[in-house]
Parts: sequence; C-alpha cells; structure tokens
Amino acid sequence: MLPQLHRHPWMGEEIEAFREQVRRYVAGELSPNLDGWRRQGFIPREVWRPFGEMGFMLPELAEEHGGAGASLAYQLAVQDELAKAEVPANTAVHTIAAHYILDYGTEAQKQRWLPKLASGETLAGIALTEPGCGSDLKSLRTRARREGDEYVIDGAKTFITNGFSANLLVVAVRTGDAGSRGVSLVVLETENLAGFRVGRRLEKLGQHASDTAELFFDGVRVPASHLLGEKEGNGFVQLMSQLPYERLLLCVPAAAVIERAVELTVEYTKQRKAFGQSLADFQNTRFKLAECATLAHVVRTFINDCTQRLLDGTLDDEAAYMAKWWCTEQQGKVTDECLQLFGGYGYMAEYPIARLYADARVQRIYGGTTEIMKDLIARRLLA
Ligand SMILES: Cc1cc2nc3c(=O)[nH]c(=O)nc-3n(C[C@H](O)[C@H](O)[C@H](O)COP(=O)(O)OP(=O)(O)OC[C@H]3O[C@@H](n4cnc5c(N)ncnc54)[C@H](O)[C@@H]3O)c2cc1C
Repeated sequence: MLPQLHRHPWMGEEIEAFREQVRRYVAGELSPNLDGWRRQGFIPREVWRPFGEMGFMLPELAEEHGGAGASLAYQLAVQDELAKAEVPANTAVHTIAAHYILDYGTEAQKQRWLPKLASGETLAGIALTEPGCGSDLKSLRTRARREGDEYVIDGAKTFITNGFSANLLVVAVRTGDAGSRGVSLVVLETENLAGFRVGRRLEKLGQHASDTAELFFDGVRVPASHLLGEKEGNGFVQLMSQLPYERLLLCVPAAAVIERAVELTVEYTKQRKAFGQSLADFQNTRFKLAECATLAHVVRTFINDCTQRLLDGTLDDEAAYMAKWWCTEQQGKVTDECLQLFGGYGYMAEYPIARLYADARVQRIYGGTTEIMKDLIARRLLA
C-alpha cells in the first residue's frame, strides 16, 4: 500500500536503519503509554532521558556537544516516526530550542546546555508568544532589565509547548526599545528559579498528551551570561533565520499524518459494510481515497524536495513558507475527508482518525499561521 511514499530520495541505508530503530523504540516504549499521557495532559520529562540515551533526541549535534554528528535528515526521520505514532511535537520544540543555542550560543553556552539537551536530561521549550501578541512578535512586552551581572525579567507568556514539563526555556524578551531591534533571547534554567511560575496547563482541542502552559516571570533573575549570543537586540533576527528548518520540523509530521490517515481509512473502508457491500466499493469512497492518496504523494514529494534542499543548504525561505502553509492545510483536509469515511466511529476519540483530525488543527496556527505564511510569500513576490 502506497510503497513509493516511503522511499525518500535523501535517505540512504544508514538512515533507514536508524529510522527502523526509532520506530521499534517508539512502538515498544512510547505508544503503549500514550493513552495515559493524554489523560494526564503531559508526557513526563523523564521519558525523554532513555530516548536521548538511544541517540534519538539530537543526533545532528556534533559529538563534542553530545550528538552523533549526523545530518539533519536523522532528526527529520525521528519526527516522521513520532508523528506516525501520534506522539506530539514536544521533541520538535526541544530541537528548535537546541538549534538556537547551537547557532547563536557562545562556546561556553553550548558546552553548558547542549550535552544535556542531547541526552534528554534537560527538556527545552521556546517561549515567544504572549497574551497580547502571537503573530506580531515584535510587539512582545516581557522585559529583561539589566542590573549589574544579571537580567531581571518581568512578564508573561502563553501557549508554551513543554511549558509545564521543560526545565530549560529559550525566552524572547525586550531588552531595548519598541520594535524588532529591542528583542533578545535569554536562556532560563527553570528548576527552583525564584519568581518563575507555571500557570495553567491549557485544555486543548487536540494534542492532549502535549502540555501547553502559561508562564509568569516576576522579577526573575538570570546571569547576564544567559543572553543568547554576544550582544542584545539580535533576538528577532535569530528567530527569523532559523525559520526554514523549523517549518520543515512541522511539515514532515504533516506528511506522516496524511499517510497514516490514508492507510487507516483504506483498511477501515475495506472491512466496513453498508447496503450489502463494503464502503470501499462505493465510487465516492474510491474517489475520496484516490484524492487523499494523491495529496499524500504530492505532499511527500514536496517535503522530500525541501528536505534535500535543506541538506544541500539551498532551501529558500519562500519554499519553506509555502511548505508550511500548504502541507499543513492538506493535513487538515485529508484528515477531515478520511474521518468522514469512518462515519460516527470517526468522531470517537478511541479511533485514531478522530485524534489525527483534532491534532491536525493546530498545525495551521503554530509555527506561523497560514495567513502569515501567505503574507510573507506575497511580500517577496511583490517586493
Ligand atoms: C497548541 C499550541 C502550541 C503552541 N506552542 C507554542 C510554543 O511552544 N511557543 C510559543 O512561543 N508559541 C506557541 N504557540 C503559539 C502560536 O505560535 C500562536 O498561537 C500563533 O503564532 C498565532 O498567534 P496568536 O494565537 O496570538 O494569534 P493572532 O496573532 O492574534 O492571530 C489571529 C488570527 O489573525 C490572523 N492574522 C494575524 N496577523 C495577520 C496579518 N498580518 N495578516 C493576516 N492575518 C493575520 C492570524 O493568521 C490568525 O488567523 C502555540 C499555540 C498553540 C495553539
């Protein structure tokens, strides 16, 4: 069934073997616990320690930073397998945070944080969004005031993935005047950090195993050496220049979920009977399945092309924006069409298709909304 979708041009035998290891680990150690994690609303941080020890957390980091010196393709293979198994995006966010430190941190900062992020001893989150600003990040208000060798942080963040479970956060703060040039990134080690408080764990439409929290900073003091990079005011540029890679971390799961939805629906419609025949015998079902399988193929082909260009260092921002909005919109469309073919069972949370549908909705919102992606593409087109 859809065999060609699983052959990735950028994948060699070594990555396939690695992917197989990840798949087996996820099936044996993570999948059996997912229902419990959904009920409690978070995946315990300790779960990621053995995952990191297996080399699955940040394989792309250099050995001196705790990784395996592998290519980014290995990380994308991990995200692909996690998404297929319905494990939410917690490690994608962790990966993005680690890459900020890798790309902008001083050597001392890399030595301090990266090995523990790679081993899974530390779980990271990225805190950008605030109650008053999401898409319009440059208007953020959480302030970091310099006092001697420290920053004193006051403000609030919301919708933060891993906000409850993380013990390290990359936080966007205002160190200067209004606008993008006044934004910096600081790294917070949050365990026993005075003035730092996790607020509510927010109840969501989907992604129930992933914690999404409010965070409060009330006179939080961090050493000035925790400013990411050498000088203040670079935060916005730092955030923007990581984006093509971040977008792919969200697109690969879109491709994986679309494929899974089609597989589940083919199986179901073959065995479910109505009016004396299987659902798969109705022409409407056959056409819908054909349409969804075509989208699965086109999405995967697009993502493979973007991945290859990312690995070659030629992935342009526009292609990444296009991939982010288009692939996640197809994820919404395919999971919706597939759910319809399950009838009432498709609406029941115990059926994976119901969860894939609900989990998919946020993909068009976080990591830059569909509208913001289109705006960015249009700006380049019309410049
Ligand atoms: C489950 C979940 C997890 C998340 N995880 C994180 C996280 O880990 N870290 C983090 O920092 N944030 C996180 N977010 C926040 C997410 O990135 C924001 O929700 C997103 O950027 C949109 O911001 P907003 O919610 O403030 O919506 P708004 O910016 O208020 O947008 C509302 C609507 O207006 C549209 N809009 C806004 N500006 C324009 C424009 N210029 N042109 C056209 N339309 C526009 C938007 O597209 C959207 O449809 C998460 C959100 C969710 C739901």
